[in-house]
Amino acid sequence: MAMPDKKFKIMSVVGIRPALIRMHKLLRLLDEHQKAKNYEHVFVHTGQHFDHELDGIFYEQMGIRQPDYNLGVGKTLKQQGGPQSFEYQMSILFPEIAKLLEKERPDLVVYLGDTNSELSAIVVSRHSVPIAHIEAGGRSYDWRMPEEKNRTVIDHLADICYSYVPRYREILLQEGLPEFRIKVIGNIIYDAVESFLPLAEKSPVLEENSLTSGSYILVTLHREENINEKTGLEEKLNDLIKLAKEHTVVWPIMPRVKATLEKFGLWDALKNSGIKLIKPQGYLEFLKLQKHAKVIISDSGSVQEEALILGVPCVVARASTERPETLIAGAGILANTNLYQNTLKALALPKSWDKYALNPTRQSPSVIIFEDLMDKIQSGFFKDSRSYDWLKSSRFVREAYGNFDSDNKKD
Ligand code: UDP
Repeated sequence: MAMPDKKFKIMSVVGIRPALIRMHKLLRLLDEHQKAKNYEHVFVHTGQHFDHELDGIFYEQMGIRQPDYNLGVGKTLKQQGGPQSFEYQMSILFPEIAKLLEKERPDLVVYLGDTNSELSAIVVSRHSVPIAHIEAGGRSYDWRMPEEKNRTVIDHLADICYSYVPRYREILLQEGLPEFRIKVIGNIIYDAVESFLPLAEKSPVLEENSLTSGSYILVTLHREENINEKTGLEEKLNDLIKLAKEHTVVWPIMPRVKATLEKFGLWDALKNSGIKLIKPQGYLEFLKLQKHAKVIISDSGSVQEEALILGVPCVVARASTERPETLIAGAGILANTNLYQNTLKALALPKSWDKYALNPTRQSPSVIIFEDLMDKIQSGFFKDSRSYDWLKSSRFVREAYGNFDSDNKKD
């Protein structure tokens, strides 16, 4: 008796809060259409984020189902008390991913973003499993950022790069990726904001924190380059403390950031500064806090984009950004120093920017990805997109395979 064809298996992998938020709709689409479209979907969480505030609450609020596997990388790292180094984290993550690949034998792995979790793409690639990468092509050109290294590697490992805006596509083409490996989809954060803003508006988070609409500054800072160096961090804190003397300032602070401030002896000054320090918020609460802020100061990639969509000016507290679209649109100011003055400037920005600047087609990026994946599975793209036939339009590929045509053969 003939064996039934093995169903195509899609494995989606997330590791941290923003990936869960951005992927929520695609995860649902991938679940819902398994039968009708005859494929299987396995959902994996690396466990890089594992605190309830940074992880669990998003399942509850966004209706995301529990992952089929949680690799527990963050917890293992913490429990073993080993060095909190990148290398040690990878030494836990890589074998876990490899075991899972052996067990599940996926035909495609879908990643979003540029964190250490997504670096496991190298293991996936070494197992000859094709990769789809969402958020491909963002570049800050700041090689000090760990994420810049991660995203460059992942984009070049991916068989299909889903880019938010045409700019990202051009960057990838400039890096030598062939055109057929890139598709512009619009920024997937629109799906999250659109799905949850109506619910978020019902949250009592303003009243609970004694805030009124349009009267406060919202802050998030967590990037390594802002946190790990004491002098720069202290300078930013002093600016925020100065702002808090004149404005209400609210900061949902991550546990890791609090621990660093304590280590540097900066926590007490901050605690007594008048800044409202609150725990990390659920998505609904945070979306509402963003919507009603008069200005946002943040080093987060997603927050500057959400701020543009919500019509709130943002001070992007970084030396560089891989997402300058928000600055180009006139919705933000890039400022690594002098947060005080730059926040005053941001407060005066005319709020006339295009709220769809990050998604000009106004379609759902998750739906575009889903449909493209289905087309590509159907056409067999993932089986042979690394083959000579796909690649031979490049002279370098032809030469590598010993095919010298009249154009490139120089006697
Ligand atoms: N966010 C949240 N609660 C918070 C702070 C942020 O839900 O207290 C959301 C925010 O709306 C955005 C995402 O988390 O969608 C940003 O995550 P983060 O800043 O950790 O990551 P980045 O965007 O820098 O990769």
